[in-house]
Amino acid sequence: MSLQDSHNRRIDYLRISVTDRCNLSCLYCKPREEMKVLPHSDILSYEEILRLVAVAVPLGISRVRVTGGEPLVRRGLVPFLASLKQYGGIEDVSLTTNGVLLEEMAEALFAAGKPRLNISLDSLQPERFRRITGADCWDRVWRGINRAEELGFYPLKINMVPVQGMNDDEVADFARLTLDRRLHVRFIELMPIGANACQRKNASVPSSELQAAIEREFGPLLPFTSGTSAGPADNYQISGARGVIGFISPISRHFCESCRRLRLTADGKIRPCLLSDTEIDIKSPLRDGCDDRELERLFRLALQIKPERHNLNETKSGCFQRTMSKIGG
Ligand code: SAM
Repeated sequence: MSLQDSHNRRIDYLRISVTDRCNLSCLYCKPREEMKVLPHSDILSYEEILRLVAVAVPLGISRVRVTGGEPLVRRGLVPFLASLKQYGGIEDVSLTTNGVLLEEMAEALFAAGKPRLNISLDSLQPERFRRITGADCWDRVWRGINRAEELGFYPLKINMVPVQGMNDDEVADFARLTLDRRLHVRFIELMPIGANACQRKNASVPSSELQAAIEREFGPLLPFTSGTSAGPADNYQISGARGVIGFISPISRHFCESCRRLRLTADGKIRPCLLSDTEIDIKSPLRDGCDDRELERLFRLALQIKPERHNLNETKSGCFQRTMSKIGG
């Protein structure tokens, strides 16, 4: 069986947020004054998430990404990942993390089935990292990345969100990391979403500009295909480099026509589009004791209302300047 939406896209990817809590407060993601968190009772238990996964897999979900908030701050995450890994029908389990707790957890994660790791890192400069994230722990994140690489996590992806005037002068430094390491460095265009939905649109740096900046320094990038890369990134390599450079361009070149994703929020809502707030409450029926057929119906409903494309290019206005002035360059 397969989950097909009303625009004939086959949906096989579920992004599961296991917590809304985070040990960083990145200025463009969650403004510091708005760091409210949900009560624990509002968050789906691992058992509840696994029941939803059990319903979703026979419908065609075969890839799961675990995210947050910061997933590594939730207790019990490692056994939960191991359960997902052992789940028949799930071919791919990945984890998106800010890497703060990675150094101490990398070995356990490896033993729990070696999920694919995406590590978010927006600066290679410790002091700037502190200004962006509110935490003085760049060294910890860096050691976490090195530890994961040493253990043999591959591919190991570093996600960087370039923001004009904040860190866009570091793009070549990030690209340089790929010269002699097998890292995948991916640049993600800043989106006007989340608590900072009013970001000024032009704070986002188009991938074409990033690519031009990298090519000025390293020469023409060569297209890179891995055979397994079904994701949203356009991948390249610097000639002779060991690693890969990816551009994810939700704003300048949206990839909605090939979108295969649904999101499950930490408080039990299915979001048909990762970039919109439209959601279906699946926690209430789950906790009211509904049967699997009702849960299946709600997954199918999410597909019926999955929009053909996101509308991020249409909705913005600007209080991003406020954020930028706090980062201070
Ligand atoms: N805490 C984990 C982490 O840092 O990877 C997982 C959650 S975090 C929200 C996931 C990713 O979303 C991070 O790489 C972050 O940079 C990115 N992100 C947050 N707000 C964004 C925005 N407005 N535009 C683009 N990416 C954003």
